[in-house]
Amino acid sequence: MEDYQNDLDMFQSALEIESPWFVSHRELDRQAGQLHVYLNFKRGAEFSCRHCSESGKVHDIVNENRTWRHLDFWQYQTVLHARLPRIYCRHCDKITTVKVSWARNHTSFSWLFEAHVMALMTEMPVAAVARKVGEHDTRLWRIFHYYVERAMKEMDMTGVKRIALDETSSRRGHEYVTLFVDMDTKRVLLATEGKGSTGLLTFREFLIQQGIDPNQIEEACCDMSAAFITGIKEHFPAARITFDKFHVMKLVNEAVDEVRREEQKEVVELKKTRYVWLKNESNLTKGQKQTMLKLKDMNLQTGKAYRLKLALQDMWTYPTIYADLYFKQWTQWAVRSQVEPMAAVARSLQRYADGILRWFQSKMTNGLLEGINSLVQAAKRKARGYRSTRNFIAMIYATANKFKIKVEPH
Ligand SMILES: [Zn+2]
Repeated sequence: MEDYQNDLDMFQSALEIESPWFVSHRELDRQAGQLHVYLNFKRGAEFSCRHCSESGKVHDIVNENRTWRHLDFWQYQTVLHARLPRIYCRHCDKITTVKVSWARNHTSFSWLFEAHVMALMTEMPVAAVARKVGEHDTRLWRIFHYYVERAMKEMDMTGVKRIALDETSSRRGHEYVTLFVDMDTKRVLLATEGKGSTGLLTFREFLIQQGIDPNQIEEACCDMSAAFITGIKEHFPAARITFDKFHVMKLVNEAVDEVRREEQKEVVELKKTRYVWLKNESNLTKGQKQTMLKLKDMNLQTGKAYRLKLALQDMWTYPTIYADLYFKQWTQWAVRSQVEPMAAVARSLQRYADGILRWFQSKMTNGLLEGINSLVQAAKRKARGYRSTRNFIAMIYATANKFKIKVEPH
């Protein structure tokens, strides 16, 4: 613990202001709720050049009072004031304004204030942060974008080989953003406006910009949307496609439910049993198990559809060498089942057989993306109003990539 002779010394130490800067005076404006702290530098001080770090004597002082919002001092907003000196650098043969140690260039916030804002913005709604710190949210977004962009630039993506992609809705579900994830680093490499094949073109151009050859993408995992398939074939010709197996099972589950809905018109016992057929048998509650046993004995179309679903579910546990044959037999069984929705889904899955069976080699799914997507949607609900898709995308990077955002002088 240090014992300060006066409050200026204490401020200087608490603010971590380094020599040759010192706190020259302070004013408390109680009405405005602000504490003004004035910084000055010692006579004859030398500063280092912002370009080459050679030090030089003060040439003159810029005739403008610059201010930086700093962390609050108790209930008072704290504002740092300084007039910046310019030095003549012999090495660069130039007169330049010095860099300050408490803030980055072109901002009116100190490092510590920005660090505080960054921490709050990943924790709570933007509107609440704006209220809490008493700044307009557009200024807060500016800080946020700066650090997120910097962290994204510093991310090493050169080794990317296997990607997964999916869409997520931005504002009220009207607009879409496509996410590209590196399966190996589990990081979102790019989130971009627009759906399907446009998104893939953007991703291709983005990789090229990073000096990455698009042909180094060997595997891509997505759902069976036509736009994704065309986009991958066109822009990533070297990539093998794996269709997400959860998406495959979702289509089959939907078909089972379609059968049930049709059949319940005649068989009332089927009403309100949607989840009984959706879950795996082992996950059913006691009551659901009893319902299932009763219905199973009734020789229903729904029961047949359900058995087809379980059979396809089993496929994923088979050794790779049997997968092709198993899938072929399953589709034949489903097509001949005389349960039309099941036959229809099987015919459609047949067309995607290569990508469905690719899973047995690549073992890729969109499970990771589903997880990221739920984080993103939770962040969206919390934020209520991102104002722009650009803000939404920055929030995706910050929440999904969980990087420690470094707020400190370079
Ligand atoms: Zn220089």
